[in-house]
Amino acid sequence: MKALKRSWTTRADWFSSDGREQSIKDYIFLANHLVWKRQASFLAAAILAALYFDPISIFTYYAFVVFTELLDGLLGRKAKAWDGQDSILGRRILKRIAFNTALSAIAISVFIINIAVQQTATGHFTPLFFLFSASVFAAMYNNQMIGILLLRLSVYAFAFLYIALIDLFRFAPPITSPIWLEFFTVIFVLYFIADISMKFYIDHQERLEQMKLIKAENKRTKDALEVKSRFLATVSHELRTPLTSIIGSLELINSAKLGSLPESLKPIFGIAARNGQRLAALIEDLLDLQKIEAGEMVFHFKAIDANELVYEAVESTSGYASKIGIHVTTIPCPEDCQITGDRGRLIQAMSNLLSNALKFSDESGAVTVRVETLGARIRISVQDEGLGIPEGAKECVFGKFSQVDSSDVRKVGGTGLGLNITEQIVKRHNGTIDYVSELGVGSVFFMEFDRLTEENDPRTAAQPFANAA
Ligand code: ADP
Repeated sequence: MKALKRSWTTRADWFSSDGREQSIKDYIFLANHLVWKRQASFLAAAILAALYFDPISIFTYYAFVVFTELLDGLLGRKAKAWDGQDSILGRRILKRIAFNTALSAIAISVFIINIAVQQTATGHFTPLFFLFSASVFAAMYNNQMIGILLLRLSVYAFAFLYIALIDLFRFAPPITSPIWLEFFTVIFVLYFIADISMKFYIDHQERLEQMKLIKAENKRTKDALEVKSRFLATVSHELRTPLTSIIGSLELINSAKLGSLPESLKPIFGIAARNGQRLAALIEDLLDLQKIEAGEMVFHFKAIDANELVYEAVESTSGYASKIGIHVTTIPCPEDCQITGDRGRLIQAMSNLLSNALKFSDESGAVTVRVETLGARIRISVQDEGLGIPEGAKECVFGKFSQVDSSDVRKVGGTGLGLNITEQIVKRHNGTIDYVSELGVGSVFFMEFDRLTEENDPRTAAQPFANAA
């Protein structure tokens, strides 16, 4: 019983092993895919032969060849439904492939031998060449399974020898006769066909091996990415909770509600609070990045007034702006400027552009936020008179964890994640983001979105971007 079980497991393994299943599928696919090419050659050969030899026997044997093609077609249908798991069906398909191959090779050989038999003079260039073509065709396209290829080529080899021997028996020529030369040439051609068949077969096996390696590598990369993503999410969550209470406590201490701090401690607690906020911002960015990568960032799309959105974002960064003494001017759009979007996420994108504009400005600089219409699009731009960005730094600006100035002496902090997240948010809104900048003069970052119309109004029509990512 155990032995029986083992033998079935082995059979199942035999089929589930990627290479074999793939070979059978490749074989059937190619056999069916090339059916018209093959048929065109057979028909051309049959018509040509019918012009010179007995057409009735030619077309009778040709019909036999077509019949075997039909059997292949039927097998192709059966194999298409095979999922590669059912090993019993797999074995049945394999047996049918072997049977069809033997039948088809015999049909083709008989078709060709019939031509040779009808040639009364010496020399059989036409049938031998037909046979040669059929063998090369098989070597090129049926090399996925060596056993099946050998079966077909063995039948063809028999036909080759049969044709070469016809004249040797008919004329019993001396060894110096061209009939013997033709015979030896046939032996040479058989060796050549065996050689190229082996080459095609080895190539196919190498291709399968490479595919296996690529698949395994792909899986390893996916697994590693998943582990990284989970690690990031867990660490960020675990950091966020205690950090929130640390920041809360520091704010309470700094507010002097619990009693005033000695002057010598005030700067230290101030630094601790600021760094706590920076750490919190980094963790939020990491969590957002992980959500985006996992496709888990949820968006709730609604109609939004771009002017209102901009006022709200400017308001939310006003504390930072006044702290560093930079005035932010807002120029709203005089026309109707509704867009469709997730309010929270768009404020996040705007806040990132604004905080960058403020961060990279010097004290005398000004920041201008503008909302305008550009045909069917609404453009929101944030302009500063700060550092500017050198040419060719776009990948750095929108990349992950990348900053144009990543040196130790850079004056402003940051994670290099903000614009990457902003870009992803904008893209999910069917929008675009870009910038123009000049070193030492300043930068303008702009986002563009579709203007809300009757057709794409989520309240009246089926919206293109549903509600969740
Ligand atoms: P972070 O600001 O945290 O470094 P971002 O992804 O928001 O990361 O920005 C990436 C980089 O793009 C910044 O480090 C900076 O080099 C450059 N950058 C972005 N906005 C501006 C701007 N307004 N002026 C100059 N450089 C900018």
